[in-house]
Amino acid sequence: AGLIVSFGEMLIDFVPTVSGVSLAEAPGFLKAPGGAPANVAIAVARLGGRCAFLGKLGDDEFGRMLAAILKDNGVDDAGVSFDAGARTALAFVTLRADGEREFMFYRNPSADMLLTEAELNLDLIRRAAIFHYGSISLITEPCRSAHLKAMEAAKEAGALLSYDPNLRLPLWPSAAEAREQILSIWDQADIIKVSDVELEFLTGTESVEDEVAMRLWRPSLKLLLVTLGEKGCKYYTKDFHGSVKSYAVKQVDTTGAGDAFVGALLGKIVEDQSALQDEKKLRELLRFANACGAITTTKKGAIPSLPTAAEAMQLMGSA
Ligand code: ATP
Repeated sequence: AGLIVSFGEMLIDFVPTVSGVSLAEAPGFLKAPGGAPANVAIAVARLGGRCAFLGKLGDDEFGRMLAAILKDNGVDDAGVSFDAGARTALAFVTLRADGEREFMFYRNPSADMLLTEAELNLDLIRRAAIFHYGSISLITEPCRSAHLKAMEAAKEAGALLSYDPNLRLPLWPSAAEAREQILSIWDQADIIKVSDVELEFLTGTESVEDEVAMRLWRPSLKLLLVTLGEKGCKYYTKDFHGSVKSYAVKQVDTTGAGDAFVGALLGKIVEDQSALQDEKKLRELLRFANACGAITTTKKGAIPSLPTAAEAMQLMGSA
């Protein structure tokens, strides 16, 4: 199968050892490696696909720990660089009683934000069949220019471009700036996945009805997806649209569910792009992606709970 290259931030989430408390009340924190693009890379690899992560870490113990996690999980780390002067990004995450998350970031600036165009492994980018990215790498220079250059190089080399904006509002100077910048690269992508919350934020409308989602549609897109948590997902192509239900699981922590969904989706599309034109194939693929997302919610943390293909098929079979 072709290579998937996932571009962006990798960091450590510090998660309270008990749920439903504020950061100040937390008795202690667990290290949970994350960063959506890194989670996607590991999700692809765990499902048996070929994936590389492209991004920058601090030349510190945390950075080296994260690079080792990529390798141990079968992700190519040839695109990882290290910044001698800046730290690996950290985020403190509170898990609210309802399982949703709130973030407090330590990035002043962190190594991921300092990736430059010159540091990009262009050879790796040009070998990508699918190039995947988010929006956090768009927030500040020099990483922003590196991100735009990487997208351009991937597109020129014929890769499919996949975009999951992964809105983290506290990282942006304002909500208006977040909306504008996230949408500024909308027309370049072939595949875009948003969550229900992101759909509402980007359209300014409190609804996930088809006519609202269609405002995010562009003729340049091959596939637009809206994930709906336990309800599954909706899909839109130029020829058809619909929704696919997820599987009933006992939700513990939703961290990484969207990344598992994307990893599953891209891992299948890189094997067989015809699902982008064939609704029956696409629906089967989305059942698999939903199962992968569902499984990821059943354990704490993103990376430990990302499923293998066998686990996903088992959930699908037992439904
Ligand atoms: P993240 O929490 O990683 O930011 P997200 O908001 O991008 O995730 P979600 O919509 O929460 O994405 O989840 C992605 C997919 O995972 C959903 O489309 C669904 O298929 C599956 N999923 C998530 N939560 C559940 C759940 N409680 N039960 C069943 N499936 C779920």
